[in-house]
Amino acid sequence: MKLKGDQQTSRAINRRLILNLLRREGAISRAEIAAITGLSPAAVTFVVAELLSENILVEGQASLGAPGRRPIPIDINYAGRLVVGFKLMVGAVDCVLTDLATTPLISRRVSLPDQSPQSTVEACATAVRQLVADWGAPQGAQLSGIGIAMPGIIINGVCRLSHRFNWTDVPIAAMLAELVHVPVWADDDTNSFALAQQLFGLGRHHRTVGALAIGVGISCAVVIDGSVHHGANGAAGKLGHSIYDPDGPLCECGRRGCLQTFFTEPVLVRRWKEAKGFSGEVTRHDMLDAAQAGDHIAIDLLREAGEGIGKFLGDFCNVIDPEVIVGGGEAVTFGDYLFEPMRGALKRSAFSAPPPITPDWADDSWARGAAALATQKLFDFESSPGEVAGIA
Ligand SMILES: [Zn+2]
Repeated sequence: MKLKGDQQTSRAINRRLILNLLRREGAISRAEIAAITGLSPAAVTFVVAELLSENILVEGQASLGAPGRRPIPIDINYAGRLVVGFKLMVGAVDCVLTDLATTPLISRRVSLPDQSPQSTVEACATAVRQLVADWGAPQGAQLSGIGIAMPGIIINGVCRLSHRFNWTDVPIAAMLAELVHVPVWADDDTNSFALAQQLFGLGRHHRTVGALAIGVGISCAVVIDGSVHHGANGAAGKLGHSIYDPDGPLCECGRRGCLQTFFTEPVLVRRWKEAKGFSGEVTRHDMLDAAQAGDHIAIDLLREAGEGIGKFLGDFCNVIDPEVIVGGGEAVTFGDYLFEPMRGALKRSAFSAPPPITPDWADDSWARGAAALATQKLFDFESSPGEVAGIA
């Protein structure tokens, strides 16, 4: 005789199996779900009925052209629940309201009066109310969670350490949950980007992935066997703190010559600006325009950056052996001026055939990654329940 607990566990496993199948494959019929998962048709019918009643799944239209009995496709009700993603930056927060597929519905950037945790969560709480009000209240849709992405070591919703924000042991997720009364999750921003890629991006059909982000910092998040790998101390993937030149500039981490003191997006733009002797504001778009016009200082700097990062990426691949490396962060703007030299260096330093480096980036990718922290909970029942402080 089966115990009640076993039945609940197997039901939870079946739910996750079916939800993740639909996430990967898109809409399919109950019969196809049974055939692919190996579950009995009765078990599929039971779980699908339950998920339909919870408004997590929807039934589509049977295709009109099909002969005989037409199966009804089942899909995830992506529009049925909303989530909010916050990307914390120095001085500002990028905010996005998305559906369950992390498709942005509306977004905005909020500036911060200071970098204190309290000011940050208060700005985020105000933004949640504004985003939901601006979007209106679509029928049946509910805000089911919030994700916070920021650079640093984040464990169970607590920012253990962020050099950029000068925060130590800040329970950022709980602080925001206290104000907004919905579950809040937090993680490192590159880990969040990797998660979004794994759920709904290039990583969807791969099990082992590197997610390289070159923005204000440099990181390469690690996805192993479909899950973001955090490491023993939450510090996995900090590629940008590999030492490029021990006599190099002081890094935010307190050491000298880390990769990211040479090749982050703002450092590259600043180095180019100084080499050209420009004054005033110069952006990465100016630098790209110059490279496209044949400016050798810009081209050489981007080549140096691509080769420098690519060499360390080779070491990364020799340890992790990823199927693909997804490129993100603001430096993706530089395109093949950056990525071609990186591919060359990777090829030279990787032990076996190097994985493709595929950029996949938009301005809202950071905030969408944050949103993915909340949406993933639907697909992974074993994960932590998030910070729910303040919920009556
Ligand atoms: Zn460093």
